[in-house]
Amino acid sequence: MPELPEVEALAGYLRQRAVGRRVDRLEVAAINALKTYEPAPAAAAGRTVTDARRHGKFLDLVLDDDLHLVVHLARAGWLHYRESFPSALPLRPGKGPIAVRVRLDDGSGFDLTEAGTQKKLAAYLVTDPAAVPGVAKLGPDALAADLPTFAERVRSRRGQVKGVLTDQAVLAGVGNAYSDEILHAAKLSPFALTDRLTDEQVADLHAATRRVLGDAVSRSLGQKAAELKSEKRSGLTVHARTGLPCPACGDTVREVSFADSSLQYCPTCQTGGKPLADRRLSRIIR
Ligand SMILES: [Zn+2]
Repeated sequence: MPELPEVEALAGYLRQRAVGRRVDRLEVAAINALKTYEPAPAAAAGRTVTDARRHGKFLDLVLDDDLHLVVHLARAGWLHYRESFPSALPLRPGKGPIAVRVRLDDGSGFDLTEAGTQKKLAAYLVTDPAAVPGVAKLGPDALAADLPTFAERVRSRRGQVKGVLTDQAVLAGVGNAYSDEILHAAKLSPFALTDRLTDEQVADLHAATRRVLGDAVSRSLGQKAAELKSEKRSGLTVHARTGLPCPACGDTVREVSFADSSLQYCPTCQTGGKPLADRRLSRIIR
């Protein structure tokens, strides 16, 4: 799932490549992906791309400063920039991976695609990004928040730090992958309770958040558009590395179920050497 660094890189690429170009056509192939009906997609035609922004994990293509194509890529969505399209014919609604196509006046443009059968990609054409419910409820940006803001937000929600850090209403932009990385960098158990964190632990968590997200943004921005792939993240230490050695200490990275997914962590770095109990698994064994 694309998170803050990947969406930031996509916005950065669109700022370089698409700003100043006029939209020829906004085509919607996956009818269910477009969550708004007014303004209609035809309203985008003839407008100029004036900016590309990020709100948490949402991408926002700004047209003439007052029309926004806001996109949430969900788990399997991505943006593919095309220097040209094979056909000038409009996309036909169907079952293919392309959900939305934006054609620009120089013949280039991009496709918003979604792999798999679970279609969760969501696009909104709005005059104000705050009209998108997911954007309206976002907390402060995880990368931009200063320590007092970060501490106030994390402590505003009592719960396991893994869940609190990925709650978009607490802080915007962090998902399953980068929360694993941040908690490893901060040497915190993913199950630590936010109301029991010391001031020092919160400060370490804040520093780790800035460092991990900042490094990932730098790596993503350094890639060419064709190499921008959400599923091929580089530089991860624990996420999606179950069974491999922790780069910091050499212990074996472990996995435990969490919410509707799983998380990865290093016992030596994060939980005093003790593996976390997998509640889903122990229930099955019992
Ligand atoms: Zn370790």
